[in-house]
Amino acid sequence: MRVSVLGLGIMGAGMAHNLVAKGFEVAVYNRSPDKAAPFAAKARIAVTPAEAARDADIIIAMLSDDDASRGVWLSDGGALGAARPGAIIIECGTLSPSWVRELAAAAGKVGVGFIDAPVTGSKLQAQEGTLRFLAGGSPSDLLKAGPVLGAMGSETIHMGGVGSGVLMKLVNNFLCGVQVAALAEGLAMAEKSGLDGEKTRAVLLGGAPGSPLVKAVAGRIAAGDYTANFFPGLMAKDLDYAGREAAKLGLTLETAAAARKRFLEAVKAGYADKDIAAIIEPLRHPAGD
Ligand code: NAP
Repeated sequence: MRVSVLGLGIMGAGMAHNLVAKGFEVAVYNRSPDKAAPFAAKARIAVTPAEAARDADIIIAMLSDDDASRGVWLSDGGALGAARPGAIIIECGTLSPSWVRELAAAAGKVGVGFIDAPVTGSKLQAQEGTLRFLAGGSPSDLLKAGPVLGAMGSETIHMGGVGSGVLMKLVNNFLCGVQVAALAEGLAMAEKSGLDGEKTRAVLLGGAPGSPLVKAVAGRIAAGDYTANFFPGLMAKDLDYAGREAAKLGLTLETAAAARKRFLEAVKAGYADKDIAAIIEPLRHPAGD
């Protein structure tokens, strides 16, 4: 099976490596060519999305946001124009349901199948091939895409029709973003009040607030290790998309908006290319401190 991967960032690179390792014939495209270079010996490197998509049975995209996805699929030299009828798109980015449905409709017009399959798990799970896919699409497209999804992940949960995968992902990351923002505020409060750091962590992580995410991020904060697993700007994007989607349902996600503010503060303070754990730094050192 010929598989194309569009987007070789933190997540896409790990996913493409697993497809190569599991024997698929892979073509890759990345806007910045330096991230494609490590694939030179094991995959076909394409200079445009269209060139990557040509002849592919399955075309995977793992891009930052709606704008990046729209450009890669629909611009001049975009992937959809080159996709052959019968191919299947697997859109893995955390995108908005409205964009995903628009793209699926455009794909349908040229006989191309579509699955939205955003992921839970992060850099490590992408590298290890243990992502969890939250999929929206038809059962028959999912069946055809099964071997490819299985090469990159340990589980695929079929949420329903097109758009239901990204909807589930936005609800998921809304809860994740709020937890990380609350952790940063709580730890900053404990630090400023002089509470012992080790005991604070033991109480929080050993008790009800100690979710897997809170444990992982608290560990990185304690170690001062802000090596990027997930960029704060992308979490802010997820909280924005979640808030907009909720608004269409007549809901206001107050906590998503507050958390998003914290992630944007981290971006503004110079942590755009660091991990979400760096969200605590502007709280430790407010502007002017
Ligand atoms: P990343 O490392 O920033 O990668 C983003 C990718 O999108 C890169 O290939 C980048 O190309 C490309 N891109 C951005 N803007 C573009 C544009 N205008 N035109 C063409 N390509 C563009 O991000 P990531 O962490 O891999 O995340 C990818 C997606 O997965 C996002 O939707 C994110 O929310 C989601 N996600 C991330 C994680 C995580 O833990 N990291 C977990 C689950 C889901 P360049 O290299 O040229 O910039």
